[in-house]
Amino acid sequence: MAFDLKDLGWDDDWSKVFAPFAADQLVPGRVAIEFNYIYRVFAQSGELQTQHSGRLRHEAESLSAVGDWVAVKPTPGEATGTIEAILPRRSKFSRKVAGELTKEQIVAANIDTVFIVMGLDGDYNPRRLERYLILAYESGARPVVILNKSDVADHLAEDMDEIQGLAVGIPVHAISAKEKAGIDVITGYLGPGKTGALLGSSGVGKSTLVNALLGEEKFKTNDVRAHDSRGRHTTRHRNLILLPELRGLLVDTPGMRELQLWSQGEGGRDSFEDILELAQGCHFTDCRHRDEPRCAVKQAVEEGTLAADRLEGFLKLQDELKSLEARKDVRAQIDAKRKIKSVSQSLKRLYKDRES
Ligand code: GDP
Ligand code: ZN
Repeated sequence: MAFDLKDLGWDDDWSKVFAPFAADQLVPGRVAIEFNYIYRVFAQSGELQTQHSGRLRHEAESLSAVGDWVAVKPTPGEATGTIEAILPRRSKFSRKVAGELTKEQIVAANIDTVFIVMGLDGDYNPRRLERYLILAYESGARPVVILNKSDVADHLAEDMDEIQGLAVGIPVHAISAKEKAGIDVITGYLGPGKTGALLGSSGVGKSTLVNALLGEEKFKTNDVRAHDSRGRHTTRHRNLILLPELRGLLVDTPGMRELQLWSQGEGGRDSFEDILELAQGCHFTDCRHRDEPRCAVKQAVEEGTLAADRLEGFLKLQDELKSLEARKDVRAQIDAKRKIKSVSQSLKRLYKDRES
């Protein structure tokens, strides 16, 4: 099956970056799935089974990931080839693995929009959402918050308000993947050549949403898949999913799903519910609980009703969020210099929104 590169996300900026490779008789392709260092690549001529060149294996800072655009040297007369280069990524999700691995482990690349999915049922947890937002900011993809299971939500309006207050400048949508309600707001982000990815804890409805977007029961939902082996799940479907009707794409890799571990890693300790509640009593609505007068949170620490290290942890998370924003501004400038226009513009828009 041949592919229209534009449907895979190819545009003029990619063409420019690729020009020197084209001169070398290489062809562009997008990595659809990786398994044991074998990469299935979607290319104009069809699917190619590829491996990294020896030189790339040694020199590249990281290996190819699903979503990457790569320069492939096709084997004449065969549907195989060698990946000679990875094009600079516009966005990437990587796993922070401590120690042993010297190379950055990238789970997905060139995502335009990352949908942060949270359930409006027992899964609802604003602090966890904040962690996912950090991941999204780090990636360079544009975050959109999806509150799923609106059909069973008890306080939809309040929850929406709370999340919107936390994710300033970021679109927040309530949907029901199960009842296919509000799916069109998601398809709005997945026009021709646009790549989306889903981020969220297990059980929030990501598979159900993928099915709804595909309009078929292609992927089994969690209650069934729990009995599957990981390997089977990995090979059953492409990790880069084409949405034929929308002409957009969705990345749904096991690695992307595993990113949740990081955000849940600290167990119950990443929830700052108590501090948020106390903050309702602060004199200033935008109190940062640092040196503002009449701060109910600091008062609670002084009175001994709130442990000092809880507040410390909270402030640390705030700092983390802030420095990520600052770093993003720098990256937006670098991107602009590289003339990767669309990305830097959307980043700038994102941060302008956040600042206002
Ligand atoms: P995943 O782990 O994020 O892929 O979650 P699944 O798609 O497997 O869904 C987990 C469970 O939530 C399943 O039992 C789904 O039927 C259920 N679920 C998904 N979306 C909705 C929804 O919009 N409303 C309700 N009530 N249940 C949902
Ligand atoms: Zn305060």
